Amino acid sequence: MPYLNTVDKLAVLADAAKYDASCASSSAQKRNSAGTKGIGSTEGMGICHSYAPDGRCISLLKVLLTNYCQYDCLYCVNRVSSNVQRARFGAGELAQLTLDFYKRNYIEGLFLSSGIIRSPDYTMEQMVEVARILREEHEFQGYIHLKTIPDAAPELLEAAGRYADRLSINVELPSRVSLGELAPEKDASRIRQAMASVRLKLDEKKEKSRHSNPRAMKATGQSTQMIVGADTSDDRKILTTSASLYAGYKLRRVYYSAFSPTPHPSSKLPPQPPPLQREHRLYQADWLLRFYGFELDEIIAGGNDGMLDLKIDPKLAWALKHPERFPIDINRAARDELLRVPGLGTRSVRAILKARRLGALRLDDVARLTTSVKKIRPFIVARDWRPTRALDSAGLRAQLAPPPEQGDLFA
Ligand code: SF4
Repeated sequence: MPYLNTVDKLAVLADAAKYDASCASSSAQKRNSAGTKGIGSTEGMGICHSYAPDGRCISLLKVLLTNYCQYDCLYCVNRVSSNVQRARFGAGELAQLTLDFYKRNYIEGLFLSSGIIRSPDYTMEQMVEVARILREEHEFQGYIHLKTIPDAAPELLEAAGRYADRLSINVELPSRVSLGELAPEKDASRIRQAMASVRLKLDEKKEKSRHSNPRAMKATGQSTQMIVGADTSDDRKILTTSASLYAGYKLRRVYYSAFSPTPHPSSKLPPQPPPLQREHRLYQADWLLRFYGFELDEIIAGGNDGMLDLKIDPKLAWALKHPERFPIDINRAARDELLRVPGLGTRSVRAILKARRLGALRLDDVARLTTSVKKIRPFIVARDWRPTRALDSAGLRAQLAPPPEQGDLFA
């Protein structure tokens, strides 16, 4: 086995972690310490952005403990049958790497996941050990997100929750049948049991003060990830599964990750990834369901093909199907009506409600309080504005949908 130093391992294990969407990731810029390289230089490897429980955007070192894995999930580049370079951090080595990056201000925390090595319990123990070293030996105060292994013993999940700020367990696929076909070693019931056990511990934590019980959970929530486009589940099925997960396990977030074909793919998988826009539309629909008062049937009505419109966002799609609901008076409408206006987000609605207490709003006022008055204008009435015609759904769709793109020309 070739020798890999810590930086080589980082290159392999940060790259292997990039398929995990549950740390909302985006590549960071290269950062280097005063022209030096070595262990302190990330060169952009493995830094992602995520949101702390208080809403701050933070940079995390996003990495796997190892990309060895004895499971054979067909959609995963790290599966046992995949011919990729493997690497593994020791627990102490990864804790030290995290500290080095943290002290250089490259990161504010760690997002740690892993392939299954030896056994789920052994893997989980190693991940917990990284977090324990950081918290207990170095009094690390940064953010820690641990991707937990559903098959690991409940005591290990509990230990993970004592050191981590956030736990996540991947539900992987929207349907139990697909999970059985594409990830034969995984069990949908065990995944849900693990989520239920974390939820129970989070509920218990609310009852007890962390200071009075040092063994209580530190974690403030759990999240999960679903892969989109690896199986035949439509958007309606995906959003239905999400709704049951949010309700049943009090998840902070369901992350949608577009399937990305791996080298030497199985014939059970589609040859092409889904359009990236599909992932984006699912996030938009997820927010409409959780924060905007929409019902699933309003976003994906029964009888169609169960898919979201890729061309326009789901709120605009709903509004264009319901011209009878518009225009609405920006100075009189209730909050839940304002939230249904395409282009108005929760923050803009809050600002409008506050501003209109001081006097009736004109269109210019609305423009100052929102990001796109062009999108909003056809749907509202303001003190000095009223659309001259009834809502023209076809015309608006053509106006607001992005223009069609042509593929590259190959000569
Ligand atoms: S358990 Fe499955 S998804 Fe996770 S690393 Fe192993 S093969 Fe990949």
